Amino acid sequence: MTIVSTTITPQEIEAHYSVLNRIGVLGDHPNAGFTRAAYSDEESAVMHYFAVQAEQNGLITRWDAAGNLFIETTDRHEQWIECGSHVDTVPAGGNFDGLAGIVAGFVAIATLNQKTRSHGLRLRIWRGEESASFGITSIGASAALGKLSADSLKKRHAGRSLAQAMREQGADPSLIESGQPTIEQNELNQISAHLELHIEQGIVLEKEDKEIGIVSGIRASSRDWITLHGAFDHSGATPMGTTYRRDANLALAYILVALDELFSSYQKENPDIDLVQTIGHINSNREKNEHDKQLYNNAISKVSGYAYFSFELRSCDDILRNRYKQKAMQIIQHIATEYGVSFEIETVSNSSGVKSLDQPIQRRMQSICESLDYSHRTLPSGAWHDAALIAQQTRSDQTTIPTAMIFIPCLNGKSHSPEEFASAEQIAKGASVLATLMQQHVGLV
Ligand SMILES: [Zn+2]
Repeated sequence: MTIVSTTITPQEIEAHYSVLNRIGVLGDHPNAGFTRAAYSDEESAVMHYFAVQAEQNGLITRWDAAGNLFIETTDRHEQWIECGSHVDTVPAGGNFDGLAGIVAGFVAIATLNQKTRSHGLRLRIWRGEESASFGITSIGASAALGKLSADSLKKRHAGRSLAQAMREQGADPSLIESGQPTIEQNELNQISAHLELHIEQGIVLEKEDKEIGIVSGIRASSRDWITLHGAFDHSGATPMGTTYRRDANLALAYILVALDELFSSYQKENPDIDLVQTIGHINSNREKNEHDKQLYNNAISKVSGYAYFSFELRSCDDILRNRYKQKAMQIIQHIATEYGVSFEIETVSNSSGVKSLDQPIQRRMQSICESLDYSHRTLPSGAWHDAALIAQQTRSDQTTIPTAMIFIPCLNGKSHSPEEFASAEQIAKGASVLATLMQQHVGLV
């Protein structure tokens, strides 16, 4: 079908940023970075800004029990196309992770509000996507879908529990505690498409000089601590070799090399493999060391009796990730046995990714990019996003909600840092793809 495009200008994006650049900024200049924690006054201030803007543009606002803000067109239709993202940041983060999607979504809806449509439009401003404050990701979106555990409300940040912080920002944690979703099933059933525009947070688009990223899937992670127990012995008096020594550090070193070789063998077979493996900590986690002081029994004059490392895998494909993890565990077991050390696995988290975002919407995004003459490529999202939760949500007829993500480049691939930057031109191009997608209902489902 023909594409009727809606173009958003950099000036329209800039108009909002000129105000938003002052909320949560850490110095006199946006380059100083931003801190807007989950359920903080700064996060609320940005949301209130959009609530006022919405009213001025003839849109309806609704706050749910989790403190999320939903902005809608006034017309009542059976079908809705919506977009969403978040406005909180990590400590000393940037002003584009999350916020770019909200600014783009707001401008798109305010523009399309003037035009006749057969469907309603909605923007969801989710609370607390970043896990930096309370150690939980996508707090607002999880709560809205009835997926936030009651235990999570006890997590603490800056001297208060999540429940207290929610209350301070006008939310009602008692409803969340009961596991009651704040979005009714009927509302979910009426969503024809859910979209999220986000900065890439990586360098692929910039490196390849692409203006738009069509996101194929969303990676989720499994995170484990692997602890190795050897024997503390005198470094001078204990002969070399595994007959005498049970050296935890040595086993750890061989394990890390073997894990890297395992990954290389997978990558050799499939150069575009959707999997990344990271050992972020080797005997270096402050919290863990304080809790379990065994690491301090290691010494320069002793055979190491204790060692640990973190093991993170990320993929859109849970089956691939689980299979790989099984192989990795076999390798760990094999090497541990060879060096006479025992090991423990402590699973920190294991979440499900989105193997494939909606393909008809991805194809439509391709045609839109071509009609707007924007360069584009398809790529997976390495980071987690609120949209993943919507993509995993089922409607009453057991179908999932068609969900898609638009990526825009960010300078040097930097994110979660004051150096994070996307230009108004880059955001406007993403917003134009978003607005064009949201304009026509036909062809999306
Ligand atoms: Zn984000």
